[in-house]
Amino acid sequence: MTAPPFPDSLCHRCGHLRLSGNRRGSTFLACDHPALPRYLPQPVRACRGFSPRVAGGGAP
Ligand code: SF4
Repeated sequence: MTAPPFPDSLCHRCGHLRLSGNRRGSTFLACDHPALPRYLPQPVRACRGFSPRVAGGGAP
């Protein structure tokens, strides 16, 4: 996979972020928050679903 895009996106600090890729090697930012769309317009600057990522796991 390529380096994750939008390094300044809030998603990179969120436990709901899931990285997905396609067969061409592109990397996408996906969200697993149940109340939000899987793909939001990037870069995300503020988000009601934000949950700080904890070391070694997903959302607390
Ligand atoms: S909950 Fe918000 S900040 Fe967290 S990954 Fe989803 S869109 Fe990004």
